[in-house]
Amino acid sequence: MNERDSEQVAHSLIERGYERAANELEADVVLLNTCSVRDMADQKALGKMRMLGRMANERPHVIFGFLGCMAQARGDSLLKNLPHVDLVVGTQRFHRVADYVEDLRQRKRTRAMDDPRFSIVDIEEETGSQSTIREQQLLPKQATAFVSIMQGCNMRCTFCIVPQTRGAERSRTIEEIVDEVRVLVSRDVKEVTLLGQIVNLYGRHEFEKLDNKSPFVQLLEAVHEIGGLERVRFTSPHPIGFSDDLIDAYRRLPKLACHLHLPVQSGSNKILKAMHRTYTAEKYIDLVQRVRDARRGIAITTDIIVGFPGETEADFQQTRALVEQVRFDNAFVFRYSARRGTPAAEMAEQIDESVKEQRNHELLEVVNQLAVQINQRLVGQTFEVLCEKPSKTNPFRLMGRTRTNKIVLFEGSDELLGKLVDVRIERATGFSLYGTPVGAAAPITAIAI
Ligand code: SF4
Repeated sequence: MNERDSEQVAHSLIERGYERAANELEADVVLLNTCSVRDMADQKALGKMRMLGRMANERPHVIFGFLGCMAQARGDSLLKNLPHVDLVVGTQRFHRVADYVEDLRQRKRTRAMDDPRFSIVDIEEETGSQSTIREQQLLPKQATAFVSIMQGCNMRCTFCIVPQTRGAERSRTIEEIVDEVRVLVSRDVKEVTLLGQIVNLYGRHEFEKLDNKSPFVQLLEAVHEIGGLERVRFTSPHPIGFSDDLIDAYRRLPKLACHLHLPVQSGSNKILKAMHRTYTAEKYIDLVQRVRDARRGIAITTDIIVGFPGETEADFQQTRALVEQVRFDNAFVFRYSARRGTPAAEMAEQIDESVKEQRNHELLEVVNQLAVQINQRLVGQTFEVLCEKPSKTNPFRLMGRTRTNKIVLFEGSDELLGKLVDVRIERATGFSLYGTPVGAAAPITAIAI
């Protein structure tokens, strides 16, 4: 979601004649779009801004700003120890950033900011802000795009800072979203990922159920209708609200990608309750089974927190057992990170960092072993891959994804960028598949230099 918000801000600046700089040393405006979900993300952004401060003395005309969740949570306190920061803009005001940048540049040009230092802080809430993330600055041959369909979350999981930083749930209309996707498809995008903090509960406060279908399923159907669109993904859903109409959508809507990222967070019912996740491990497992029944071969990934306050070794072993039973294709495992102002941060029985580290390590091993086993079975098979971009590590390779969201690396020319290519898998690790394109249209080892 941050990536998508950053794109919107970039678009609004490019519209006014700005250009992307190759790096911050060449930029006249440096904006850090921040994440607050873990303390490490906060610290990284602060560290980066401190480092940029050294540059501020040599290049006083440069505008420095914090955007996003940390800006929302900390507001003007961010200016205290970072005097070179000019701008702090929260999560509902991204669309004002370009105006503020212009204002700040004008003031710097006329030296109106010399003393006292002038800065702009805007962390106001704004009705309708969910509809302001709607334009995209696509790169040449860009085949995939994020589409923000809602903002905020009312779930109040006890570890999570998102309801504070992103506000209450607010959804865009189906018409608005479909219009955005149509424009993307007309510019050759083939896959969209619908984004929301609790995406499957899209529209529950604004729109009615129709024919027993939730607003989210109605939206999926409307997006699915768009000719030229090949794949639809969404992230992230909550097991609560993952109702039968959505499971049935996997049977009816072939463009719906064959991958579901479904955060479980813990395999212990005691910890799930303390997290306020409002489902049990048994219900989660049953839901996964029903999704697998609806769509054969679907890949399932998840998020897990280890070391939540009060998590005993027995609780942790229940999480491990759930991972082994579900056999996730992959999982993001996080050590619990206390966030100021959340109920879990105040809970007794905080877990020692060394215990969190050991559980994190143990669970990652299980996850990685399963991922290797699952991916090894794909060797020898051919999959349709949407070719996204050149590989980061090897300029002779391209990178794409299967419908199951597996990363595939293969040799091929730039002509394949943005296209669907059948690739035969020859080798697999837990993270990536390696293969060769098959079929007449695919050059086998053409190399782009
Ligand atoms: S559902 Fe997700 S975004 Fe909402 S409070 Fe829970 S973890 Fe945070």
